[in-house]
Amino acid sequence: MIGVLGENGRLGYLRPSITVDEQFIDACEGHGDPETRFRFADRCVENSCEHWSGARCSLIGRLMTAGRDTGAAQSAELPRCAIRSACKWFSQEGPQACAICPVVVYRPA
Ligand code: SF4
Repeated sequence: MIGVLGENGRLGYLRPSITVDEQFIDACEGHGDPETRFRFADRCVENSCEHWSGARCSLIGRLMTAGRDTGAAQSAELPRCAIRSACKWFSQEGPQACAICPVVVYRPA
């Protein structure tokens, strides 16, 4: 887990990140969908993911466009993120990915 959603609707980043274990999963039981409150990260599976397009993740481009279109508050300051050196979004888009990342929130359909 790399972050926790704050009351201000922005992600607070954890350094170091926290490994999800059985204890964490048990603690989440009965408290709704954890993805709506926490940000999880795993290795990129590229072609096995619905967001992979050609040779890149298509999701971050759509999120950046949506952020521009909605005027989502973006920060010029890079979040203190624990996974930057391995982050696919950062490797593709650089600091612009990190500008929108704190306001990306999962909401189930
Ligand atoms: S886009 Fe930036 S802030 Fe978000 S997970 Fe990747 S490196 Fe971290």
